[in-house]
Amino acid sequence: MPFSSFGFSPALLRSVGMKSYAAPTPIQVQAIPAALAGHDVLGSAQTGSGKTLAFGLPLLQKLEQVPLEKPRRLRALILVPTRELAAQVGGEIYSLAQHLPQALKIITVFGGVSINPQMMNLRGGADIVVATPGRLLDLMEHNALTLNDVSLLVLDEADRLLDLGFSAELDRLLALMPKARQNLFFSATFPAEVMALADKLLRNPVRIEVPTEPQTRPDIAQRAILVDANRRTQLLRHLITENHWKRVLVFVATKHAAETISDKLRKARIYAEPFHGELSQGKRTQVLADFKASRLKVVVATDVAARGLDIAALPVVVNYDLPRSALDYVHRIGRTGRAGESGVAVSFISADSERHFRLIEKHQQGNVEREVIVGFEPLEAPMAETESVEDAQPSTGGIKGRRPSKKDKLRAAAAHGQDDVSTRAA
Ligand code: AMP
Repeated sequence: MPFSSFGFSPALLRSVGMKSYAAPTPIQVQAIPAALAGHDVLGSAQTGSGKTLAFGLPLLQKLEQVPLEKPRRLRALILVPTRELAAQVGGEIYSLAQHLPQALKIITVFGGVSINPQMMNLRGGADIVVATPGRLLDLMEHNALTLNDVSLLVLDEADRLLDLGFSAELDRLLALMPKARQNLFFSATFPAEVMALADKLLRNPVRIEVPTEPQTRPDIAQRAILVDANRRTQLLRHLITENHWKRVLVFVATKHAAETISDKLRKARIYAEPFHGELSQGKRTQVLADFKASRLKVVVATDVAARGLDIAALPVVVNYDLPRSALDYVHRIGRTGRAGESGVAVSFISADSERHFRLIEKHQQGNVEREVIVGFEPLEAPMAETESVEDAQPSTGGIKGRRPSKKDKLRAAAAHGQDDVSTRAA
């Protein structure tokens, strides 16, 4: 099915044509006709599935059909959980709108940067705003915009919006919008609170489910390498060099680990930078730009910072520390193998994280073969089999089970030596 079969305007088809996509993705095939027909949409889709176009194109087609007024009235609002996603989605919508006969004013706003330039940009109104909820409310408190004319609302990554504690902000924003509007709701997961929000928001939605769980995708090769915890940085260096990896996203448990490991890689002349929530917005933007432009080979990131990132052509993801939950594992390995490319997800498994990894495998209903790299054979034995899998507590923080005592931590530190930075507090 080509993009031309949706009935888009010539201007939008031109923008899509410039992207050279072979065909619409499954979420686009299903969501675009429903959204164009004016239905509310409840879409289950991951970042990387092509959902920005799935809501962006119908949104632009609708705006193209109504004459513009001055001052501009905010008609389409896209709410996203993070600044990175806001910048990504705003950029994508902007590039799709570039050939429209009436130039639309598309403004992206998010926190962590000065509010004044955003207020200036909103002078004279805007047609489309892409925003994180907190900053949008701040701007409204400064009378920089109102939501009285919003006729189309997109909630992108609704589960992350709630995970990040935006529930109260969302309620306040929803109360300020007209009731008669179209809602496009996308989420990767549907726990009870996400369903409750969808129920509150949507009227007879068209439900769209696309099987995008990374573990079901054969194009991501999962590897599990057994290694002692205190040798993981050396192994990482070895793998990067031996395999000539050009671009690697490494996940760690703490900001401290992100800083320390990237320092060590730089000392070994592997250009690496940390990426975590305590970096300034300027620094985060710079790191991403350098990574995308291949000026940077490795980014060592924490989960929160890396959520929603879309880095095209990311061939390798490494779980230096295992994620806390099986769901985070799915999100992490889904960073690679985007949009039809193949990818490799490597997990380092140490004696104390073996059981945790088994929990992740159990959740995924599939086993990953354990590998040992010559020169990095583990010396530490996995935890005793007498303990149940559910009680296992990895150094990275487990799904379930007790927290390690001070004595446990001292014992672990003595056993792991100085290289194991993951267990230290950030
Ligand atoms: P998302 O974050 O879900 O919007 O996914 C965005 C990624 O999917 C970007 O890398 C896009 O370039 C890519 N993408 C979007 N639509 C398509 C398509 N029809 N074919 C291939 N890649 C696409």
